[in-house]
Amino acid sequence: MSTNQQHDDWRDCPIGELSQMVGRLNAAQRQARMKQLYGKAAACVLLVAVGVFAVGTVLSSRYGGITCPECQEHFVAFYDHQTKATAMDDALASSMTKHLENCGSCRSAFEKSYPGVLPAELSDQLAVPIFAVANFATLY
Ligand SMILES: [Zn+2]
Repeated sequence: MSTNQQHDDWRDCPIGELSQMVGRLNAAQRQARMKQLYGKAAACVLLVAVGVFAVGTVLSSRYGGITCPECQEHFVAFYDHQTKATAMDDALASSMTKHLENCGSCRSAFEKSYPGVLPAELSDQLAVPIFAVANFATLY
């Protein structure tokens, strides 16, 4: 009988109170879902940013203080400088030389466009793998 008594103590809710509670619960659930969504979106943006940075770093290595695109931009001027046709700014020529010494992809691109123009010590670096293969072949 005590449970019936407790039920008798219940009062009617004021009009609209239940729908307000449902509205508040729905809003809280929506907010929680949005927080999750924003968290996932932020993680995705962060991953993409890190990926772009990593790829950008790899693709444009800064040897000699210049990136690969900067180096390749000056191929013609460096060719003219190497063939003594037109002198190049000393600092830029030094940067180009350092870049080509350290960057195999730019060095091979330059060699492809202007074969035999690079100084022997730079060209020798290109020939090393071929030489190594030749040595390997003579062993067998
Ligand atoms: Zn390069």
